[in-house]
Amino acid sequence: MALENILKIIDPVKASAIEKALDGRDLTEKDIVELLRSGGLELTALTMAADLLRKRIVGDIVTYVVNRNINFTNICVMGCGFCAFSKDFRSEEVYFLPISEIVRRAEEAWRYGATEVCIQAGLPPRIDPYHYVHIVEAIKRKIPQIHIHAFSPVEVVYGANLAGVSVEEYLKTLKEAGLDSLPGTAAEILDDEIRAKISPGRISVETWVNVITTAHKLGIPTTSTIMYGHVENEHHIAKHLLLLQRIQRETNGFTEFIPLSFIHREAPMWKYNLVPGLRPGPTWREVIALHAAARLLFREEIPNIQASWVKEGAKMAQQLLEAGCNDLGGTLMNESISTTAGATSGQLMRPRELRNIIRSIRRIPAQRTTLYKIIKTYYNEEDETELDKIENPEEQFGSYWQLVKDPRFKRYVRQKN
Ligand code: SF4
Repeated sequence: MALENILKIIDPVKASAIEKALDGRDLTEKDIVELLRSGGLELTALTMAADLLRKRIVGDIVTYVVNRNINFTNICVMGCGFCAFSKDFRSEEVYFLPISEIVRRAEEAWRYGATEVCIQAGLPPRIDPYHYVHIVEAIKRKIPQIHIHAFSPVEVVYGANLAGVSVEEYLKTLKEAGLDSLPGTAAEILDDEIRAKISPGRISVETWVNVITTAHKLGIPTTSTIMYGHVENEHHIAKHLLLLQRIQRETNGFTEFIPLSFIHREAPMWKYNLVPGLRPGPTWREVIALHAAARLLFREEIPNIQASWVKEGAKMAQQLLEAGCNDLGGTLMNESISTTAGATSGQLMRPRELRNIIRSIRRIPAQRTTLYKIIKTYYNEEDETELDKIENPEEQFGSYWQLVKDPRFKRYVRQKN
């Protein structure tokens, strides 16, 4: 059935929100809430509209980036309820990669064709206040061309506080050292009451917005994210999305929007029943509705909406590409944060696998840089890179479970105790 015919028979409030988006008009909080509550034919109409807008705005190309994640330590002074990755420094299961190992991993990734390293970690106690800066300097010294996408707003605030300088000053130092962009993570739901339930003591909404807008002002682009499917409701999500839209209108510093499903299995707040009313992640319907509603809201203002294969799995990511998304994220090579939370998608998606996912829904794959410059569009041709030839990623790149047992990476803990 054609979209216009479906719009005639579904709930008129939801139909009107979809029509507004298709006409390029702004959506209100109420419109977004209605869209997020879509089911059945309404959800069909929402995804059709999102797919239509995606095609109008960015065409049929679906992008991915060849990158490597380096989570250099799991030691963390915080204890966010959703985080199964972090460990107290007294735990047996800790690791801390020295800067030489971070650089080795970045060099290895570069040899395998990576254009980006994505670096995020826990917040280790008594760290050198400029440790983050030293990491960036050391990588750029060896591989000046690699894009360093690193340090969540929480890490930036941690570094700035330890150094006793403002966020702006700390970000400037990171930029001068060679930092290229920041992950817009640690956003979860941008509502202080929700944050107090799932991650008490973590940065406030105001602080998150300050780090992000300061980065944008300094010419450091960031991604934007949401983590949903826990204790929030549709109004919290709608307000979060509208706040991101407002920031983008002021700064134009977001490169993309990445919805991240809450993965409950190993999350402490789920395992120990710490938060009343906690849900075990979003349903299939909620995942589709959120990605599609984001496309209707952000349109060309945030033109890139990512389907995260590591959170959603390859099949769901494929469906999301037909619900407004135009990007599949990165190859990763190593993945610890979702894996420890109970995700089962693995730690590497080879470029050829990403292209197969894209081609099987009749779209066109393209490798991009972190900032969405197209490196190569694969209309018909194929490549087999060294990364495609890797049969056992754990053997080549190591894994989280190997790291926590490796005596070479316990040194930080021993030195400090
Ligand atoms: S989410 Fe980050 S700050 Fe929170 S506990 Fe995990 S590693 Fe630490």
